[in-house]
Amino acid sequence: MMKRILVVEDNDLNRKLFCDVLAANGFSVEPVADGEMAIDRARAFVPNLVIMDIQLPNVSGLDLIARLKGDVNLRNTPVLAVTAYAGKGDEERIREVGAQGYLAKPVSIGPFMAAVRNLIDPDSREAAA
Ligand code: MN
Repeated sequence: MMKRILVVEDNDLNRKLFCDVLAANGFSVEPVADGEMAIDRARAFVPNLVIMDIQLPNVSGLDLIARLKGDVNLRNTPVLAVTAYAGKGDEERIREVGAQGYLAKPVSIGPFMAAVRNLIDPDSREAAA
């Protein structure tokens, strides 16, 4: 079974980059440009991982992560947050709200895929360690 990844990112270039890289690495991807659609799409797609841009129009990625973590069917789905701000307080707030992973933009492909694999398949990470 292909693992499913929901990609919530309003920036067209970033969303396409994330989705292309994930698809090339064998993942099934569902892009979401509008953060206000993210929760409904997550419920329908039932992802194995959510990649969440924090800076979205009209809605905060932090609030979306909190809503995912408040949904009985989605709360165990790992979340990788991606943010343009790299301040210490930001990472703390992102982790407090429930994201397991955190990447600062600009995102490089190597660290991106490493973070994805760590979150989506912890067994293989332990085996490789
Ligand atoms: Mn954004």
